[in-house]
Amino acid sequence: MKVELAKTAGFCFGVQRAVDMVLRIAEEEAAEPLKEPNCPAGYSQSQNSERSKPTLIKEPIFPAGSPSCQNSEQQNPTLLKERRTVYTFGPVVHNESVIRKLSEKGVKVIGSEEELDSLREGIVVIRAHGVPERVYQKIRDRGLVLLDATCPFVQKIQRIVRERTGRGEKVFLAGSVSHPEVQGIIGWARGDVTVISDPENAKSLPDAGDLVPGEQSRDVVLLAQTTFNADNFKQIIAILEKKGYHVHVINTICSATLERQAEAEILAGRSDAMLVIGGSSSSNTKKLFEICKAKCQNTQLIQTVKDLKFNSDEAIRNVGITAGASTPKEIIEEVLTYVRTKF
Ligand code: SF4
Repeated sequence: MKVELAKTAGFCFGVQRAVDMVLRIAEEEAAEPLKEPNCPAGYSQSQNSERSKPTLIKEPIFPAGSPSCQNSEQQNPTLLKERRTVYTFGPVVHNESVIRKLSEKGVKVIGSEEELDSLREGIVVIRAHGVPERVYQKIRDRGLVLLDATCPFVQKIQRIVRERTGRGEKVFLAGSVSHPEVQGIIGWARGDVTVISDPENAKSLPDAGDLVPGEQSRDVVLLAQTTFNADNFKQIIAILEKKGYHVHVINTICSATLERQAEAEILAGRSDAMLVIGGSSSSNTKKLFEICKAKCQNTQLIQTVKDLKFNSDEAIRNVGITAGASTPKEIIEEVLTYVRTKF
Protein backbone atom coordinates (compact mmCIF):
# COMPACT_ATOMS: atom_id res chain seq x y z
CA MET A 1 0.00 0.00 0.00
CA LYS A 2 1.29 3.42 -0.94
CA VAL A 3 0.68 6.12 1.66
CA GLU A 4 1.04 9.72 0.63
CA LEU A 5 0.97 12.66 3.03
CA ALA A 6 -0.01 16.09 1.69
CA LYS A 7 2.88 18.56 1.97
CA THR A 8 0.50 21.22 3.29
CA ALA A 9 -0.99 19.01 6.04
CA GLY A 10 -1.03 20.45 9.55
CA PHE A 11 -0.58 23.77 11.32
CA CYS A 12 -0.74 26.85 9.14
CA PHE A 13 1.35 29.93 9.84
CA GLY A 14 -1.38 31.70 11.84
CA VAL A 15 -2.22 28.73 14.08
CA GLN A 16 1.45 27.90 14.70
CA ARG A 17 2.09 31.51 15.64
CA ALA A 18 -0.87 31.60 18.04
CA VAL A 19 -0.04 28.27 19.70
CA ASP A 20 3.62 29.27 20.08
CA MET A 21 2.58 32.56 21.65
CA VAL A 22 0.32 30.86 24.20
CA LEU A 23 2.90 28.19 25.02
CA ARG A 24 5.63 30.75 25.48
CA ILE A 25 3.63 33.02 27.75
CA ALA A 26 2.28 30.04 29.73
CA GLU A 27 5.81 28.75 30.27
CA GLU A 28 7.04 32.19 31.26
CA GLU A 29 4.24 32.59 33.77
CA ALA A 30 4.59 29.06 35.14
CA ALA A 31 8.25 29.70 35.94
CA GLU A 32 9.28 31.28 39.23
CA PRO A 33 8.32 34.95 39.36
CA LEU A 34 11.02 36.83 37.53
CA LYS A 35 11.09 39.64 40.01
CA GLU A 36 9.67 40.77 43.28
CA PRO A 37 6.07 41.87 42.90
CA ASN A 38 5.50 45.34 41.49
CA CYS A 39 9.09 45.84 40.26
CA PRO A 40 10.38 45.57 36.71
CA ALA A 41 11.25 42.00 35.67
CA GLY A 42 14.68 40.80 36.69
CA TYR A 43 16.02 44.07 38.01
CA SER A 44 15.78 43.04 41.66
CA GLN A 45 17.37 39.60 41.18
CA SER A 46 20.95 38.58 41.80
CA GLN A 47 23.29 39.42 38.94
CA ASN A 48 24.56 35.81 39.01
CA SER A 49 21.14 34.38 38.47
CA GLU A 50 19.90 33.31 35.05
CA ARG A 51 16.68 35.03 36.00
CA SER A 52 18.48 38.33 36.42
CA LYS A 53 17.91 38.94 32.71
CA PRO A 54 14.80 40.97 31.99
CA THR A 55 12.30 38.86 30.05
CA LEU A 56 10.56 40.52 27.17
CA ILE A 57 7.47 39.54 25.25
CA LYS A 58 8.31 40.45 21.71
CA GLU A 59 4.78 40.17 20.27
CA PRO A 60 2.41 43.10 20.86
CA ILE A 61 1.45 43.11 24.52
CA PHE A 62 -0.28 45.93 26.27
CA PRO A 63 -0.26 46.02 30.06
CA ALA A 64 -3.56 47.77 30.55
CA GLY A 65 -3.47 50.33 33.30
CA SER A 66 -1.37 48.53 35.88
CA PRO A 67 -0.85 51.05 38.65
CA SER A 68 2.52 49.84 39.96
CA CYS A 69 6.06 50.67 38.79
CA GLN A 70 4.75 53.46 36.60
CA ASN A 71 8.13 54.90 35.66
CA SER A 72 9.64 51.59 34.63
CA GLU A 73 6.58 50.70 32.62
CA GLN A 74 6.71 53.95 30.78
CA GLN A 75 10.31 53.23 29.81
CA ASN A 76 9.56 49.68 28.71
CA PRO A 77 5.89 48.68 28.60
CA THR A 78 6.68 45.10 27.54
CA LEU A 79 8.37 44.05 30.79
CA LEU A 80 6.78 41.02 32.42
CA LYS A 81 5.24 41.44 35.84
CA GLU A 82 4.66 38.65 38.34
CA ARG A 83 3.05 35.28 37.64
CA ARG A 84 -0.45 35.63 36.20
CA THR A 85 -3.11 33.31 34.85
CA VAL A 86 -3.07 32.93 31.09
CA TYR A 87 -6.44 32.80 29.33
CA THR A 88 -7.31 32.38 25.70
CA PHE A 89 -10.49 33.99 24.41
CA GLY A 90 -12.07 30.82 23.00
CA PRO A 91 -9.96 27.73 22.30
CA VAL A 92 -6.73 28.88 20.64
CA VAL A 93 -7.06 26.14 18.07
CA HIS A 94 -9.85 23.72 17.16
CA ASN A 95 -8.02 20.66 18.35
CA GLU A 96 -8.72 18.84 21.60
CA SER A 97 -5.22 17.45 22.11
CA VAL A 98 -3.63 20.90 21.79
CA ILE A 99 -6.19 22.36 24.19
CA ARG A 100 -5.45 19.55 26.68
CA LYS A 101 -1.71 20.22 26.44
CA LEU A 102 -2.23 23.93 27.05
CA SER A 103 -4.60 23.22 29.93
CA GLU A 104 -1.89 21.08 31.55
CA LYS A 105 0.29 24.17 31.43
CA GLY A 106 -2.38 26.14 33.29
CA VAL A 107 -3.93 27.91 30.30
CA LYS A 108 -7.63 28.53 30.78
CA VAL A 109 -10.22 29.12 28.10
CA ILE A 110 -12.70 31.98 28.37
CA GLY A 111 -15.90 30.88 26.68
CA SER A 112 -17.80 34.15 26.41
CA GLU A 113 -17.71 37.89 26.86
CA GLU A 114 -19.67 37.43 30.12
CA GLU A 115 -16.81 35.31 31.49
CA LEU A 116 -14.37 37.99 30.42
CA ASP A 117 -16.45 40.53 32.33
CA SER A 118 -15.87 38.61 35.55
CA LEU A 119 -12.04 38.44 35.29
CA ARG A 120 -10.00 40.46 37.73
CA GLU A 121 -6.46 39.73 36.60
CA GLY A 122 -4.50 37.80 34.03
CA ILE A 123 -3.27 37.73 30.47
CA VAL A 124 -5.84 37.26 27.73
CA VAL A 125 -4.62 35.88 24.43
CA ILE A 126 -6.76 36.61 21.39
CA ARG A 127 -6.58 33.63 19.10
CA ALA A 128 -5.85 33.49 15.36
CA HIS A 129 -9.55 33.83 14.40
CA GLY A 130 -9.71 37.28 16.00
CA VAL A 131 -12.52 38.86 18.00
CA PRO A 132 -14.90 41.82 17.64
CA GLU A 133 -13.39 45.22 18.33
CA ARG A 134 -15.40 45.63 21.56
CA VAL A 135 -13.53 42.67 23.14
CA TYR A 136 -10.23 44.60 22.95
CA GLN A 137 -11.89 47.46 24.77
CA LYS A 138 -13.31 45.14 27.44
CA ILE A 139 -9.89 43.63 28.09
CA ARG A 140 -8.33 47.04 28.49
CA ASP A 141 -11.22 48.37 30.59
CA ARG A 142 -10.80 45.48 33.01
CA GLY A 143 -7.08 46.19 33.43
CA LEU A 144 -6.10 42.83 31.92
CA VAL A 145 -3.04 42.22 29.78
CA LEU A 146 -3.79 41.71 26.09
CA LEU A 147 -1.70 39.45 23.88
CA ASP A 148 -2.95 39.57 20.31
CA ALA A 149 -2.44 36.41 18.25
CA THR A 150 -5.00 37.34 15.58
CA CYS A 151 -3.66 36.06 12.27
CA PRO A 152 -2.51 38.98 10.08
CA PHE A 153 -4.69 37.63 7.24
CA VAL A 154 -7.76 37.91 9.48
CA GLN A 155 -6.70 41.37 10.64
CA LYS A 156 -6.63 42.43 7.00
CA ILE A 157 -10.31 41.45 6.56
CA GLN A 158 -11.27 43.21 9.80
CA ARG A 159 -9.54 46.36 8.53
CA ILE A 160 -11.24 46.23 5.11
CA VAL A 161 -14.66 45.68 6.68
CA ARG A 162 -14.16 48.58 9.08
CA GLU A 163 -13.01 50.92 6.30
CA ARG A 164 -15.54 49.94 3.66
CA THR A 165 -18.58 49.94 5.93
CA GLY A 166 -17.27 53.18 7.43
CA ARG A 167 -17.52 54.71 3.95
CA GLY A 168 -21.11 53.48 3.71
CA GLU A 169 -20.27 50.71 1.22
CA LYS A 170 -22.32 47.51 1.15
CA VAL A 171 -20.27 44.50 2.23
CA PHE A 172 -21.03 40.85 1.53
CA LEU A 173 -18.95 38.25 3.37
CA ALA A 174 -18.85 34.65 2.16
CA GLY A 175 -18.59 32.52 5.27
CA SER A 176 -20.34 30.75 8.07
CA VAL A 177 -22.22 33.23 10.24
CA SER A 178 -21.75 31.19 13.40
CA HIS A 179 -17.97 30.84 12.97
CA PRO A 180 -15.93 32.92 15.47
CA GLU A 181 -13.80 34.40 12.69
CA VAL A 182 -16.92 35.72 10.94
CA GLN A 183 -18.40 36.95 14.22
CA GLY A 184 -15.12 38.72 14.92
CA ILE A 185 -15.05 40.34 11.46
CA ILE A 186 -18.65 41.56 11.78
CA GLY A 187 -17.62 43.08 15.10
CA TRP A 188 -15.34 45.54 13.26
CA ALA A 189 -18.05 46.80 10.89
CA ARG A 190 -19.42 50.33 10.99
CA GLY A 191 -22.54 49.24 9.11
CA ASP A 192 -24.35 46.11 7.95
CA VAL A 193 -22.48 43.09 6.65
CA THR A 194 -24.46 40.42 4.80
CA VAL A 195 -23.04 36.94 5.36
CA ILE A 196 -23.48 34.47 2.49
CA SER A 197 -23.01 30.89 3.61
CA ASP A 198 -22.97 29.12 0.22
CA PRO A 199 -24.14 29.43 -3.42
CA GLU A 200 -27.71 28.41 -2.47
CA ASN A 201 -27.81 31.23 0.04
CA ALA A 202 -26.54 33.65 -2.63
CA LYS A 203 -29.42 32.61 -4.90
CA SER A 204 -31.91 33.62 -2.21
CA LEU A 205 -30.68 37.25 -2.15
CA PRO A 206 -32.88 39.81 -3.93
CA ASP A 207 -32.03 40.65 -7.53
CA ALA A 208 -30.23 43.98 -7.84
CA GLY A 209 -33.06 45.10 -10.14
CA ASP A 210 -35.52 44.78 -7.23
CA LEU A 211 -33.52 47.09 -4.96
CA VAL A 212 -34.94 50.52 -4.20
CA PRO A 213 -33.06 52.97 -6.49
CA GLY A 214 -31.27 55.69 -4.58
CA GLU A 215 -31.60 53.78 -1.32
CA GLN A 216 -30.02 50.43 -2.03
CA SER A 217 -26.88 50.25 -4.12
CA ARG A 218 -26.04 47.61 -6.72
CA ASP A 219 -22.37 48.07 -5.83
CA VAL A 220 -21.11 45.53 -3.33
CA VAL A 221 -17.75 44.57 -1.89
CA LEU A 222 -17.42 40.79 -1.62
CA LEU A 223 -14.95 39.27 0.86
CA ALA A 224 -14.53 35.73 2.17
CA GLN A 225 -13.81 34.04 5.47
CA THR A 226 -10.15 32.96 5.24
CA THR A 227 -11.03 29.27 5.12
CA PHE A 228 -13.92 29.55 2.66
CA ASN A 229 -14.19 26.97 -0.11
CA ALA A 230 -12.61 28.54 -3.22
CA ASP A 231 -15.05 26.90 -5.68
CA ASN A 232 -18.07 28.06 -3.70
CA PHE A 233 -16.61 31.57 -3.67
CA LYS A 234 -16.37 31.56 -7.48
CA GLN A 235 -19.96 30.34 -7.74
CA ILE A 236 -21.17 33.07 -5.38
CA ILE A 237 -19.45 35.73 -7.52
CA ALA A 238 -21.15 34.38 -10.64
CA ILE A 239 -24.58 34.28 -8.94
CA LEU A 240 -24.29 37.84 -7.64
CA GLU A 241 -23.22 39.12 -11.07
CA LYS A 242 -26.11 37.31 -12.68
CA LYS A 243 -28.42 39.01 -10.21
CA GLY A 244 -27.18 42.36 -11.48
CA TYR A 245 -24.83 43.35 -8.67
CA HIS A 246 -21.64 45.25 -9.45
CA VAL A 247 -19.32 43.05 -7.44
CA HIS A 248 -15.96 44.35 -6.26
CA VAL A 249 -14.24 41.10 -5.28
CA ILE A 250 -11.46 41.09 -2.69
CA ASN A 251 -10.38 37.49 -2.43
CA THR A 252 -9.43 37.08 1.22
CA ILE A 253 -9.27 33.30 1.22
CA CYS A 254 -5.94 32.59 2.84
CA SER A 255 -3.23 31.17 0.58
CA ALA A 256 -2.53 28.46 3.18
CA THR A 257 -6.16 27.39 2.79
CA LEU A 258 -6.10 27.56 -1.01
CA GLU A 259 -2.89 25.52 -1.25
CA ARG A 260 -4.20 22.97 1.23
CA GLN A 261 -7.52 22.61 -0.61
CA ALA A 262 -5.87 22.37 -4.04
CA GLU A 263 -3.36 19.76 -2.90
CA ALA A 264 -6.04 17.75 -1.06
CA GLU A 265 -8.23 17.68 -4.17
CA ILE A 266 -5.41 16.37 -6.37
CA LEU A 267 -4.33 13.84 -3.77
CA ALA A 268 -7.90 12.59 -3.21
CA GLY A 269 -8.30 12.24 -6.97
CA ARG A 270 -5.48 9.67 -7.15
CA SER A 271 -6.23 7.85 -3.87
CA ASP A 272 -8.44 4.81 -3.19
CA ALA A 273 -8.90 6.02 0.38
CA MET A 274 -8.39 9.44 1.86
CA LEU A 275 -7.92 10.46 5.48
CA VAL A 276 -8.59 14.00 6.64
CA ILE A 277 -7.26 14.58 10.15
CA GLY A 278 -8.66 17.40 12.24
CA GLY A 279 -10.93 18.57 15.01
CA SER A 280 -14.68 18.05 14.66
CA SER A 281 -15.29 21.78 15.09
CA SER A 282 -12.54 22.92 12.71
CA SER A 283 -14.12 24.72 9.77
CA ASN A 284 -11.14 24.28 7.44
CA THR A 285 -10.96 20.55 8.26
CA LYS A 286 -14.64 20.12 7.37
CA LYS A 287 -14.06 21.90 4.07
CA LEU A 288 -11.09 19.68 3.30
CA PHE A 289 -13.31 16.69 3.99
CA GLU A 290 -15.99 17.95 1.56
CA ILE A 291 -13.39 18.55 -1.15
CA CYS A 292 -11.79 15.12 -0.70
CA LYS A 293 -15.12 13.31 -0.49
CA ALA A 294 -16.16 14.80 -3.85
CA LYS A 295 -13.06 13.20 -5.42
CA CYS A 296 -12.77 10.05 -3.35
CA GLN A 297 -15.87 8.36 -1.92
CA ASN A 298 -13.79 6.46 0.61
CA THR A 299 -12.83 9.56 2.61
CA GLN A 300 -12.78 9.55 6.40
CA LEU A 301 -12.63 12.50 8.76
CA ILE A 302 -10.73 11.50 11.89
CA GLN A 303 -9.53 13.37 14.95
CA THR A 304 -6.92 10.83 15.99
CA VAL A 305 -5.73 7.38 14.99
CA LYS A 306 -8.42 5.88 17.26
CA ASP A 307 -11.18 7.00 14.86
CA LEU A 308 -9.69 5.08 11.91
CA LYS A 309 -12.05 2.52 10.42
CA PHE A 310 -9.89 0.84 7.82
CA ASN A 311 -10.54 -2.76 7.05
CA SER A 312 -7.36 -4.58 6.10
CA ASP A 313 -9.39 -6.66 3.59
CA GLU A 314 -10.33 -3.62 1.56
CA ALA A 315 -8.63 -3.44 -1.81
CA ILE A 316 -6.80 -0.20 -1.18
CA ARG A 317 -3.59 0.54 -2.99
CA ASN A 318 -3.19 4.28 -2.48
CA VAL A 319 -4.00 6.12 0.73
CA GLY A 320 -3.85 9.90 0.81
CA ILE A 321 -3.58 11.82 4.08
CA THR A 322 -4.16 15.48 4.71
CA ALA A 323 -4.90 17.50 7.83
CA GLY A 324 -6.57 20.74 8.82
CA ALA A 325 -4.65 23.86 9.74
CA SER A 326 -5.23 23.18 13.44
CA THR A 327 -3.92 19.61 13.52
CA PRO A 328 -0.60 19.18 15.34
CA LYS A 329 2.33 17.35 13.75
CA GLU A 330 2.37 14.58 16.40
CA ILE A 331 -1.19 13.47 15.54
CA ILE A 332 -0.45 13.43 11.81
CA GLU A 333 2.71 11.39 12.38
CA GLU A 334 0.85 8.93 14.58
CA VAL A 335 -1.76 8.30 11.87
CA LEU A 336 0.90 8.08 9.16
CA THR A 337 2.93 5.53 11.11
CA TYR A 338 -0.16 3.50 11.98
CA VAL A 339 -1.37 3.28 8.38
CA ARG A 340 2.14 2.48 7.10
CA THR A 341 2.70 -0.29 9.61
CA LYS A 342 -0.74 -1.89 9.99
CA PHE A 343 -1.94 -2.19 6.42
S1 SF4 B 1 -5.87 32.98 7.89
FE1 SF4 B 1 -4.69 31.31 7.03
S2 SF4 B 1 -2.71 31.37 8.05
FE2 SF4 B 1 -4.15 32.61 9.24
S3 SF4 B 1 -4.97 31.22 10.78
FE3 SF4 B 1 -6.39 31.20 9.09
S4 SF4 B 1 -5.74 29.48 7.79
FE4 SF4 B 1 -4.06 29.97 9.20
